[in-house]
Amino acid sequence: MSTYTYSAGPGMLPKEVMQEIQQHLLSFEHEGVSIIETSHRSESFQHVVDALEARLRRLMYIPESYALLWLQGGATLQFSMLPMNLRNRNRFAYIDTGIWSKKALEDARHFGEVNVIHPIIDETGGMSFEPSLAQDVDYLHVTLNNTIEGTRFTNIPDVDVPVIADASSNILAERIDVERFGMIYAGAQKNIGPAGLTVVIIRRDLIQSMELPSYLHYASHVDTLFNTPSTFSMYVAERVLKWVEDQGGVEAMERLNREKSERVYSFLEQSHVFTPLVSGERRSLTNIPFTTGDRDRDRNFQQFAREHGLLELGGHRSVGGLRASLYNAMPLEGAERLVDVMRAFEEETNVSHQNI
Ligand code: PMP
Repeated sequence: MSTYTYSAGPGMLPKEVMQEIQQHLLSFEHEGVSIIETSHRSESFQHVVDALEARLRRLMYIPESYALLWLQGGATLQFSMLPMNLRNRNRFAYIDTGIWSKKALEDARHFGEVNVIHPIIDETGGMSFEPSLAQDVDYLHVTLNNTIEGTRFTNIPDVDVPVIADASSNILAERIDVERFGMIYAGAQKNIGPAGLTVVIIRRDLIQSMELPSYLHYASHVDTLFNTPSTFSMYVAERVLKWVEDQGGVEAMERLNREKSERVYSFLEQSHVFTPLVSGERRSLTNIPFTTGDRDRDRNFQQFAREHGLLELGGHRSVGGLRASLYNAMPLEGAERLVDVMRAFEEETNVSHQNI
């Protein structure tokens, strides 16, 4: 029986990639010297950086007018680096779509005034916002995919200010039209590689000269490794991106992710025991929150699933319930197994109800 983890992050990585890393761990460029022991200034590591950058540019169609920065501190550090670096008027607009967007806007408040914009839900259940509310600000911030709530934007109207996207839980999982954004940032630990690496894709003309501590200044990181980066995570990320390219790129990933989420949602829609917590077009392709409606029963299901080799199906600690994260490395069989196990739990629950 294979085991699957539905963790929201760090999430599953492709088995093939991990096997390859295991095989090469003790010999990177030289026999007996690991990538972990290799200098970030070495020629061989520079090949990793160059390949990583080239692959991300190809996969996401990122033009040269954008710089790629490989940072640490998670997506969370970007919550403050962003307003620190992009402020002019010291006014920012944030769409409040859930817990991560709230954390982002709370950090921005240290650097200026924040206009909080509420999302609009249309008749199909799609998620958008009123563009006229994002005026006279340095930028508008959107969380493209809400990892905890399981929702995503279906429409981003044009605005006159740069749009900044937190794409931590949907980068490489669905097409993102990079050129519509001033900056896109994401922690690596869901669809890119191990934790400890954050990618920032930023339009070069937005990088300004600021009086900031050196690491916190975007300009320090442009076209150079400013300090020792997360070398092992970058090495693994490069291999994961190769895997994504081999699978057919982001387009193929999106097709697969749609299929997986549809499998799970179509079961949840007709289940007598489980209920999905999001409806309509704004359903995330990668994070599916659901519940049995009863805290103890949710816990029983998690235990039942663990016994069947399905791990990490609990909702985020702030909201409880259940959640399945189906990132790129989760194969279709992982979604099918989840449905089978939910069905088995449902049958067992129905039987025990009939016996009362
Ligand atoms: N934004 C989103 C959408 C997230 O899902 C997460 C983490 N799950 C974060 C930000 C925070 O990321 P990190 O833990 O890398 O700081």
